[in-house]
Amino acid sequence: MMGIKERRAVNVKGLLRRNWLLIATILSVLIGISLGIVVREYVSLSHLHKQYFGFPGEILMRMLKLVILPLIISSMITGVAALDSEVSGKIGLRAVIYYFSTTIIAVILGIILVMTIKPGVSQEAENIDRAGTTPNVTTVDTLLDLLSYMPFGILFLIAAKIIEVEDWEIFRKMGLYMVTVLSGLAIHSIICLPFIFFIIVRKNPYTFTLGMAQALVTALMISSSSATLPVTFRCAEENNRIDKRITRFVLPVGATINMDGTALYEAVAAIFIAQLNDYPLDVGQIVTISITATVASIGAAGVPNAGLVTMVIVLTAVGLPASDVTLIVAVDWLLDRFRTMVNVLGDAYGAGIVQKLSKRELERMDLISDVDVANPFALETTLDDEECEKKSYVNGGFTVDKTDAISFTETSQF
Ligand code: ASP
Repeated sequence: MMGIKERRAVNVKGLLRRNWLLIATILSVLIGISLGIVVREYVSLSHLHKQYFGFPGEILMRMLKLVILPLIISSMITGVAALDSEVSGKIGLRAVIYYFSTTIIAVILGIILVMTIKPGVSQEAENIDRAGTTPNVTTVDTLLDLLSYMPFGILFLIAAKIIEVEDWEIFRKMGLYMVTVLSGLAIHSIICLPFIFFIIVRKNPYTFTLGMAQALVTALMISSSSATLPVTFRCAEENNRIDKRITRFVLPVGATINMDGTALYEAVAAIFIAQLNDYPLDVGQIVTISITATVASIGAAGVPNAGLVTMVIVLTAVGLPASDVTLIVAVDWLLDRFRTMVNVLGDAYGAGIVQKLSKRELERMDLISDVDVANPFALETTLDDEECEKKSYVNGGFTVDKTDAISFTETSQF
């Protein structure tokens, strides 16, 4: 018999084994930050040496980018192929309604916060430095194991970023703006999305978020919802038990068009820039910002800094100089991480919600395939039988329950 101590040790071992990747990723973040600070303080590196230092991180980014396109295309094909056209249409419509409503909620939340906090009106923020950094990348094809290489790559990605920052002062100047964006993202992901999820799915949304932890940490570290997709699939399917027919269809589309975090950020940033320029905005312009921020977030690709590029649409729509994006470039590398995390969380909640709303269709498909497997002719026989036809087609819907169908199938076989 195992004692309490032994049992506890076995439990802890099991927990560590199941979550080793999540634990290793979090550890690598902490080590990466410390290493970055130490190297920054005590070692003077040339530009070339800094690039060498960031090289293992670049390998990770390149590996992830390498799998994005084949992953999105193949999962969409298998996702749609697993559903009949009527069901995929319904699921698609539900997903689009969810994407659109949550994006609008995020934009409105961002506008309310930035109009209340007024980060651009503060005196400090007016003296902003116009500085920017453009990430430089090197192409490397590799056959290393992606899901094991991640902690190592993340460590160097973070450390290299930290040694790259030249002026810490800029953080103080942009502080209020960052607080506005981050509190908007926090409210959206801790209150709005979980509330919608709870109302529809009636399950604990925070347990669901916990199941997505590995994907969220990955999104935070690599700033790309598309590149996070392999991890998002794994967390949604294995931890949160979302049906593959839903994830393979809803998640790739979500990673491409559903970006609540980006939409919120674009609305806040546009109004912040207007405030910095002392440029008054009327109600019409605020509405224009909401619409263009939504469109710009849909148009943004799920890659690092994409939201900053599509910001130009929002700025030009309300008559602000597009070149003013340079004002916020300096802190974008940080905000990008958090909005990507919210983008991924929004996609995952979307998959959970669409699964709940599509329960009937999925069960019906399971039933049809069960009957099909039991006897390939059973379905045809079912349709021919007058009595069963009455049972099967009520209001044009396939309402026969599993026991009825199977018992009929069995009878019809004799
Ligand atoms: N990096 C974000 C994403 O991949 C897009 C953005 O820049 O807002 O979801």
